[in-house]
Amino acid sequence: MKNDATIALDIVKAPTSKINSVDFENLNFGHIFTDHMMICDYKNGAWQTPQIKPYGPIQLEPAAKVFHYGQAVFEGMKAFKDDKDNIWMFRPEENFNRINKSAHRLAIPEFPKEYFFAALEELLKMEKDWIKKGFGNSLYIRPFVIATEPGVLAAPGTEYKFMIICSPAKSYYNGEVRVQFSESFSRAADGGVGYAKAAGNYGAQFYPTNLAKAEGFQQIIWTDANSHEFLEEAGTMNIFFRINDTLVTAPTNDRILDGITRKSLIQIAEEEGVKVEVRRVSVKEIVDAAKDGSLKEIFGTGTAAVINPIQGFGYKGEKYELKPLTESYATHFKEKLMKIQYNLAEDKFGWRYLVKE
Ligand SMILES: *Cc1c(COP(=O)(O)O)cnc(C)c1O
Repeated sequence: MKNDATIALDIVKAPTSKINSVDFENLNFGHIFTDHMMICDYKNGAWQTPQIKPYGPIQLEPAAKVFHYGQAVFEGMKAFKDDKDNIWMFRPEENFNRINKSAHRLAIPEFPKEYFFAALEELLKMEKDWIKKGFGNSLYIRPFVIATEPGVLAAPGTEYKFMIICSPAKSYYNGEVRVQFSESFSRAADGGVGYAKAAGNYGAQFYPTNLAKAEGFQQIIWTDANSHEFLEEAGTMNIFFRINDTLVTAPTNDRILDGITRKSLIQIAEEEGVKVEVRRVSVKEIVDAAKDGSLKEIFGTGTAAVINPIQGFGYKGEKYELKPLTESYATHFKEKLMKIQYNLAEDKFGWRYLVKE
């Protein structure tokens, strides 16, 4: 896509940077935010001039609709820096399209593409010192939209804020992950908002996840709401199973989020000759495969962790462990995807996006 430099932005620079107070070697994911943020208001039926200003608290009325009716959607993306100080993003148009798809479902007005890219790229250029070189270092980018109009009438707001905040991130090992297959809770229903990155989807996951944690699991694998017989998604990740040498993942639909990491992985795996089956995956199939040894791997995919291996799962009180592998698909494809992201490998599919100086 062509970068469009013709969009006017209101820019106020932070008087000082807090970057020197940040320990980049010991970053907790999503705890520290950069010097600036982007805010764009929607009022009188139109998105106003995007502003970039110092990161800090914003004022909202207590009656703002987001607090009462959860009209809020978000995205998660990353920027990377290569050895030559170029800043790259990975398939950002996909994130842009998806936040508008999410917004549409929540009756939030869609955001213009040229505003999104002009404001995001300017923000990244202002924060370029926060994007550290080195494989695994990145800047996590969180665009989101909230309904700000005051009023407790249950109807969509007429005022919104589209914002972008950024947080430096490091890839780190988050320990072994064991998951519980959900037997009763659901994250999404047919006809619902599961396919949208709607804030409420995540708030609703915390309680069942806490129950799973109390039983020694780190995460829940959500099953379909009707029968709880089919495996659909991990917490905020899509889920893959490797049975012998075939990868299996559920098809996306109105309950399952269409992950960019998921679809990128499917493409690079197929290109390498690995068979990928996109089809419903039953709990029974995975339990049987774990018992007969044909289940080799389980992993989640998502922007934050890229690929997150899962060592075992629990279902109906039984625990199943996977044998550690020396050559896992998870490790292999994670490295392959990241090399494309960091401009260390050929980009056959045209996924990298250069932030032009
Ligand atoms: C964001 C998200 C994913 C992963 O999507 P990516 O585009 O790969 O980051 C998967 N499932 C859910 C529920 C998500 O919110």
